[in-house]
Order: sequence, then C-alpha cells, then structure tokens
Amino acid sequence: LAEELRHAQKMEAVGTLAGGVAHDFNNILTAIVGFGTLLQRSLKNDNPFRIYVDQILIASDRATTLVKRLLAFGRKQVINPKPANLNDIVKSIEKLLARLISEDIDFRLVLVDEPLICQVDTGQIDQILINLVTNARDAMPGGGSLTITTGSEYLDEDFFSPIEKGKPGRYGVISIADSGMGMDEQTKERIFDPFFTTKEVGKGTGLGLSMAYGIIKQHEGFVAVESFPDEGTTFRVYLPLVQTAATADSPERLHVQRGNR
Ligand code: ADP
Repeated sequence: LAEELRHAQKMEAVGTLAGGVAHDFNNILTAIVGFGTLLQRSLKNDNPFRIYVDQILIASDRATTLVKRLLAFGRKQVINPKPANLNDIVKSIEKLLARLISEDIDFRLVLVDEPLICQVDTGQIDQILINLVTNARDAMPGGGSLTITTGSEYLDEDFFSPIEKGKPGRYGVISIADSGMGMDEQTKERIFDPFFTTKEVGKGTGLGLSMAYGIIKQHEGFVAVESFPDEGTTFRVYLPLVQTAATADSPERLHVQRGNR
C-alpha cells in the first residue's frame, strides 16, 4: 500500500512537472521560434549575424522536441497486462482510496458476485481509480457520498459511435459515482484533454483524466461519463472481459444501450 501510494504520488509529481513546466515552456518556445523566424527572414544570407539567429532556431527546435517528449511521457505508459479479477483489484486498493478522502464522505464498495476477469495491468487500473477518486473527493468539499460499483455488461453495436470504434462483447465495469458539484456540458466535453482543469493553480494539473483515458484505451476499454450540475458525477470504466465458458453465453441476456458520455 505504501509502495502504491508512493508510486501514485510520483506519477502525480511527474504530472505536475510535465503539466507546469512543459506547458508554460511550450508557450515561451512559441515566442522564441516565432520572433526568431521573423528575424531570420529579415536578415539577408550574407548578414554576419544570420549565423547566430540560425543557431538560436536550431536550439529552439531541439527544445521543442524535448517538450513534446515530456508531454508524451505524461500520457503514455508501458503496460504489463495479466488476467486479473476487477473485484480483487478494487478490494485491494480500498484502504488506500479511503485514505485519500475525508471522513465526511460516505465511501461504499458494491462488488458484484461474479468474477470479472480482464487482461489488465493492475498497477495501471489502480492509477485510474486513484485519479477518479481524487476527482470525486475534490468535487465534494463539503462531504457527500462516493460509491464504487463493479459489474458486467454486454455492449452491442449501438454503444459504439462511428468515431469511437470498439468490439461488441461482454465488458467488466467499474463505476465511480459521487454526489458532488457535477459538471456542465462545456466542461464535460473537455475533461479528457491534457491540461484541462477547473481547479486552482497548484491544485490541478489537468492530467489525471487524460492519463486515465490513455490507460483505458491501451486496455481496449472505454470510459463513459454522466454528470449533472449540483447533483453529481458517475464515471464508468469498461474493460473487455476475458472470454470463458461462463461469459461466452448469449448476448441477449443483458442488453445495454450506449450511455451518456
Ligand atoms: P485535475 O484533477 O488536475 O483538474 P483531471 O484531468 O483529473 O485534472 O480533471 C479535469 C477536470 O475535470 C477537473 O478540473 C474538473 O473540472 C473535472 N472533473 C473531473 N472529475 C470530476 C468530478 N467527479 N466531478 C466534477 N468535475 C470533475
């Protein structure tokens, strides 16, 4: 647990670093490259100062590459997937999650009575849960309720939009529901963008959800969001279930329509 918390804090620190430094630095670089290029164009080829300007632009190019790499680091993780039961993952991180939230939040776990075997990197799923629970906590400064529920659903063709393709089939679901401040439509549209945050400077990096999104995508999963201002928010994380004799039964048994995202 301590190890996991340390890892989560490290990821948070890297996120802060990537978010704060790279984002601001990128803006500064835009000015350097922009005005440098103007200066370069206004100097004739035989101008003795031209070579200095060229060197500045070459160095700026390298800095741009570096910043891009730093930004990419915050998003891409190498995953090491193994078959695991989502119920076990949630159960084993329960104490750590409880420690993240204050005592005036009523925290509940509702685990389905069936194994939800998915091919996942446990540490990465922990990271998603930590990010989602941290956001739920921040959305309830005056307390409230937070419920994590597991289950399984059959997702049919209707669930997938033409843009977001995916395989119909049975998915394990972890939903995180809070009774917090919720979000309006405009906010909801941008939450998975890197560096999008509505939190005050120093509190949010805007990387939590983009990181979670990246991890879910790498697991060939999906995330759905339902949110209403002043009522609360529910995030649903869908991860493909490993096909077993028990899960390969008729898709008609449980029919789920595409949810609100
Ligand atoms: P950060 O937490 O650093 O702001 P995230 O990417 O995790 O970055 O979240 C982006 C934004 O999405 C938040 O600033 C907030 O506006 C919104 N958000 C995320 N989760 C919730 C939630 N459970 N309730 C209300 N708003 C949320």
